[in-house]
Amino acid sequence: MSPSSPAGSSSSSLAYTNVLLALPDGPVPASASDSKSHCTSLIGGYPTFPPLPASAKVPKDVRCGICHEPMPLLAQVYCPPEGGENDRTVYVWACARVKCQKRDGSIRAFRASIRNDEYVRDVEEKRAAAEKEAAEERERARKNPFTLSSDAQPNGSTLFGSAQPLFGAASSSPNPFAAPASSLSSSVTPDISKLSIASSSSTTLEPPLPAYQPAQYLSTIEEYLIPPDEMDVESDGEDDEEGGADDDNLEKMLNKGADEVFDGFVRRLEGADGGAKQVLRYELGGMPLPYSSATPLCRKLFPGAEKPVGKDEELDLSSLYNPSSIPACGQCGSKRTFELQLVPTLISVLQPSSLSTNGEAPKITKGANSEAERKKELARLAAAATEGADENGEMEWGTVMVFGCEKDCVGFTEEWVGVEWEVSFEPVQ
Ligand SMILES: [Zn+2]
Ligand SMILES: [Zn+2]
Repeated sequence: MSPSSPAGSSSSSLAYTNVLLALPDGPVPASASDSKSHCTSLIGGYPTFPPLPASAKVPKDVRCGICHEPMPLLAQVYCPPEGGENDRTVYVWACARVKCQKRDGSIRAFRASIRNDEYVRDVEEKRAAAEKEAAEERERARKNPFTLSSDAQPNGSTLFGSAQPLFGAASSSPNPFAAPASSLSSSVTPDISKLSIASSSSTTLEPPLPAYQPAQYLSTIEEYLIPPDEMDVESDGEDDEEGGADDDNLEKMLNKGADEVFDGFVRRLEGADGGAKQVLRYELGGMPLPYSSATPLCRKLFPGAEKPVGKDEELDLSSLYNPSSIPACGQCGSKRTFELQLVPTLISVLQPSSLSTNGEAPKITKGANSEAERKKELARLAAAATEGADENGEMEWGTVMVFGCEKDCVGFTEEWVGVEWEVSFEPVQ
C-alpha cells in the first residue's frame, strides 16, 4: 500500500468526509413491512413507490433501453434531504443480460418525491426554534459581549448537518430524517411514523418481474478515511474481519494499471474505516468519485484527469470537476446535482445466480451432494457467457453515478445516470 492520500483529497489528514457509505445489512424478510415500504433502503428485491399524485405515472415495470425487457432492481435508497419537506426515494435498475452489458440505456434511475407533512412541520418548528435561539443569543451578547455560548457553536458544516445517517441507518436518535429506524435487520416492529406515511396506495412491484433475491437492507456509516500513515498498521491488524478477501482483490486491481484516477478510486474505497463492503456512496450535492480516466464519462466530468501528474504532485479531482454537461431535471427544469454512486462490490453481492422471478431466493444447495449441482451451474453460466447473450450474466460496470433534481420536485421521474463501464487494464509486465 503506497502511503499517498486518496485522490481528490488535498490534505493527508482527511478524516470524516461528507459521504455516507451504504453497506449490505442482512436479508429483508419478504413478510416484513419493510419489504413494502418506500422508506426502506435496500438492494435487490422489489421497489416500492410511495403514494403519488394521480398525475404521476407509476410504472408496472422498468425496462432496459436496449432489449426492452423488464430489469431487476439494484437499489432503492430512501434519502429525504435534511431540512427538506419531501420523502425522497431513488431507484436504480440494470439489465442483467449479457448482450446489454456496457451499453448506455441498460442502467436507469428514477426518483419518487412526495411531500411529507411531518417534515414540513418539523422544518417549521426547527426554523422557529432557530429564530428563538438566535434572538436569545443576541440578547446574551448584548448583555455581555465577552461570553461565548457553546450552544451557539454550529454543528459542523457537513451537508447533512450533524451527519445523521440517512436512509434507514442504525440510529437511535429521534431525528426524523433517520425515520425508518426499524430497517435494522434485527427489528421487524412496524414503525408508527412510517405507517402514517405509507398509505395503502403505495405500489410494490412483484413477481414475475425479475429480482435479485433475497433483498438486503442497507445501513449507512459516515465515510472516515484512515490517515495513510495509520493505514498499514490498521490493515494488518484486527480490522481484517472487515473483509480480507476484498482487500486482496483491491490490491490486485491496483497492480494492474497505471491510472491515477483508478488508483485513487481503489484507495478511497479501501481507505474507509469499516467501509470495505460499501456498495453505494451517497452525497447529495457532492462530487462523484470517478473510476477511471479511460472512460468517456470521467473525461466529461473531470476534463484533464487523464493527464499524467508529476512525481510529487497529487491528482486534484475537485479542481477539475465540471458537471455542467449534466442535463436539467426533465420534470421541473431545475439543475441536477450528483446524488449517489454504485461501486463494484455491489456486483459481487448481486450475482446472476441470485436472480429469480418468483419472489424467492433461488435454492442454494448445501452439503455433500451440492458439488455436482454447483458444477452444473458454473457450466451453464460459462455457456451463457459464450453463446447465449440473452442469458443473464455478471454486470460489467466500474461505477454508476446518479444525478438528481436539486429542487427535489414532487412526482415520479427518471433521473440522469452516468456509467463508467468496466475497463480492462493491461497487466504491468
Ligand atoms: Zn437489456
Ligand atoms: Zn425537478
